[in-house]
Amino acid sequence: MKTIIEPFKIKSVEPIRFTTESERERILRKAFYNPFLIPAEDVLIDLLTDSGTAAMSAKQWAGIMEGDESYAGSKSFFRFERVIRDLTGFKHVIPTHQGRAAEKILFAITGGKGKFIPNNTHFDTTRANVEYSGAEAVDLVTADGRRPELVAPFKGNMDIEALKKFIVEKGKENIPVCFLTVTNNSGGGQPVSMQNIREVKKVLKSFGIPLFLDACRFAENAFFIKKREAGYSRKSLVEIAKEMFSHADGCTMSAKKDGLVNMGGFLALNDHNIARQARNLLIVTEGFPTYGGLAGRDLEAIAQGLEEVLDEHYLTYRIRSVEYLGEKLTAVGIPIVQPPGGHAIYIDAKGFAPHIPVQEFPGQAIVCALYIAGGIRSVEIGSVMFGKYDSRGKLISPAMELVRLAIPRRVYTQSHIDYVAEVVQQVFAQRNRLKGLKITEEAPVLRHFTAKFRTV
Ligand SMILES: *Cc1c(COP(=O)(O)O)cnc(C)c1O
Repeated sequence: MKTIIEPFKIKSVEPIRFTTESERERILRKAFYNPFLIPAEDVLIDLLTDSGTAAMSAKQWAGIMEGDESYAGSKSFFRFERVIRDLTGFKHVIPTHQGRAAEKILFAITGGKGKFIPNNTHFDTTRANVEYSGAEAVDLVTADGRRPELVAPFKGNMDIEALKKFIVEKGKENIPVCFLTVTNNSGGGQPVSMQNIREVKKVLKSFGIPLFLDACRFAENAFFIKKREAGYSRKSLVEIAKEMFSHADGCTMSAKKDGLVNMGGFLALNDHNIARQARNLLIVTEGFPTYGGLAGRDLEAIAQGLEEVLDEHYLTYRIRSVEYLGEKLTAVGIPIVQPPGGHAIYIDAKGFAPHIPVQEFPGQAIVCALYIAGGIRSVEIGSVMFGKYDSRGKLISPAMELVRLAIPRRVYTQSHIDYVAEVVQQVFAQRNRLKGLKITEEAPVLRHFTAKFRTV
């Protein structure tokens, strides 16, 4: 088989700035060892997130010019609505400025004290919005999904038995909605099988609970179904994506992922009553229902992006470029979540730096080392992001300590990825020198964005 190539030519380039190791040490100290506080100009390869970092196509840029900026009834809204309705089949399409705004609106209506929201694994903003409403966010991913070293095709799947037990225990009246995150971002970017989506829906239907998809990476999930699930290899990606949505009653989406845009999102659903309340809230917090928190040009770019993202050549290149990085790291014994997910490589920090206790954030230590060694920005997904404290102030750690190398869409070439692999390999070779960190300042919610650290 020949090399899988980037299925595009580069029309416009953005230079990246090179820094020295000693410059980066100073920059990192100034940023209190938190990559979110590093100016982007001082980053060589930015793998902080795949969110809002995609390169738009020429057609999307053309759409930016085409955007209709009418306050009400914009032509661009109707295109946006048509594309999303056609893809998802949902009746109501509500634009928001990004994914979390859709979450905020949905949980403000459906959440609240005494309510429970199950999910395979809540993404951080989803969890925060559930909890902010007073409800409890519960992760019910299968046992396989909690084993980073295990190679299995659909580690994002929901544990069906656990879901049934959970509903019976908490009472269906206390569970306004159940979510499935496709792909499962916080669980390693792992896909959910069509069979699992079907089974989750069947259970929920028997209790009268609606199923919503957190659809940020629906296209990547559809690609994995095509490649890994029996009966789907001959179906088109569009057919598979449509089937995924057909089992659900609604979705929230950050278009900053598989929408291939830099800003935008939406809430889409069938329930008239929730949609009516959502539009009322939208007007208070985002904007008029035909633009939400977005400009007409954004709606146009999202519509175009959603049409491009299910291209077979694009997704083949996309998933292969992530897998390629995973292979290079695995080849030298670096422990990563297996198999590689759709949008990122997740390094198993406990396996990488076993000498650093979780209280000293082994993931954050690796993040800092990657920046100093190669100007690569990554993010910790472990005790910094999801850690809680018990009543005596002792850290309660999540199951996994991970470092995420998220790959922006259509931005970096194979040689960039080769460089990233070299830097990670170099840090791994010198892993005994890694030192832990302590938090010196933190916010009560989503602390990883602003926390400050010092080295131990
Ligand atoms: C990014 C993301 C969100 C939130 O979307 P924003 O656009 O960042 O607000 C929600 N869920 C998942 C799975 C995500 O990846």
